[in-house]
Amino acid sequence: MALTNTIYNSPVFQQACDQFDQAADILGMDQGLRERTKQPRRCLIVRLPVRMDDGRIETFEAYRVQHNISTGPAKGGIRFHHDVTLGEVAALAMWMSWKCSLVGLPFGGAKGGVVVNARDMSTGELERLSRRYIQEIATFIGPNLDIPAPDVGTNEQVMAWMMDTYSNHVGHYDPGVITGKPVALGGSLGRREATGEGVAWFTKAYLTDLGIKPADTTVIIQGFGNVGSEAALALDAWGAKIIGISDFTGAIHNSKGINVRDALAYAAANKSLDGYKGGDALTNEQLLEQPCTVLAPCALERVITEQNAPKLKCRLIAEGANGPTTYEADRIIEQRGDIELIPDVLCNSGGVIVSYFEWLQNQSAYYWSKEEVFEKLHKMLAKAKASVDETKKKFNCSRRTSALVLGIARVAEAKAKRGLFP
Ligand code: GLU
Repeated sequence: MALTNTIYNSPVFQQACDQFDQAADILGMDQGLRERTKQPRRCLIVRLPVRMDDGRIETFEAYRVQHNISTGPAKGGIRFHHDVTLGEVAALAMWMSWKCSLVGLPFGGAKGGVVVNARDMSTGELERLSRRYIQEIATFIGPNLDIPAPDVGTNEQVMAWMMDTYSNHVGHYDPGVITGKPVALGGSLGRREATGEGVAWFTKAYLTDLGIKPADTTVIIQGFGNVGSEAALALDAWGAKIIGISDFTGAIHNSKGINVRDALAYAAANKSLDGYKGGDALTNEQLLEQPCTVLAPCALERVITEQNAPKLKCRLIAEGANGPTTYEADRIIEQRGDIELIPDVLCNSGGVIVSYFEWLQNQSAYYWSKEEVFEKLHKMLAKAKASVDETKKKFNCSRRTSALVLGIARVAEAKAKRGLFP
């Protein structure tokens, strides 16, 4: 479908729009409601002046896109990446809307991005950048307005600085403004593991449906950040063999199995997997095409493309990342018919679910045990899986489209029922 000209124009925004249109067609959504539901509601673009350690002032472009605020406060992470664009942030915000809606969270969808290579910054520079970003968007966010969280390139420490900056802005401790905080500052037990734990939970559930046992499962994880490493640990603990991992420096492959804890310790000590000797060195592109039971892209968008989709040698794709499969690659995977796909909005929803638990705990100032968090998480994942599988049967469509149909329908219904003001 042709894209109407918007400020968000980009291949990844187009991908999110194409996915939306496919689901909206199934729902028979009329043009007015379709555009109202699809297009981002509003965005803020800011420029952040930051004093660098050598005394220079550098400025960084940054965004916050609120895609949907009709079903609750907007919710979604903040990405620090040198290539991040407004269109990408808008697509990620759109996927947050469908994800929150699909799993039944009382949130809309949002995403933030700062164009920066955070790896090259000192801790002090990173702190000043993080604080300045929140200072610039302080009136646009809040526990009842828009609740950020970590994403690619940000972590618990960054969330702590951001929460502190916002709390100073409003004049009191206000932890519910942001999730993914350290536990000492109102973070939830289990939030750090939540996204990877959810990816592993869905992977195990779908492998069980396919009759594949842990001992017969080999796993390739592209991206060894928070999501990929936690998914690797959980699948390793289940008895699967992790045969491939990668980060921005390249990939490691070992058909005998990679010692995940050892690789994690190496990555923590060396700031990357570069030089890790636990297997053969490959490129990220080569890694995706290696034979395996489970391929889990856990890094950035658009890595499974029409070029490599015909060459994939896996049984299951578990999308830990947001948007890792292009619209064209989806069509190829559907036609092949030999690969099951757990779509991003379902597969990585564990992160935002435990973010919701964190926000609830902050609002009530009453904190839960890790067991309680995981028990509630698993219940919500199981419910979402059952409804996606049922919708897939009902409409005879792909698992991605069925997840999107569910996520989009609730947002569209809320908008239609709220009506227009005035
Ligand atoms: N950035 C994560 C995601 O893409 C988490 C968002 C959140 O916890 O709000 O789902």
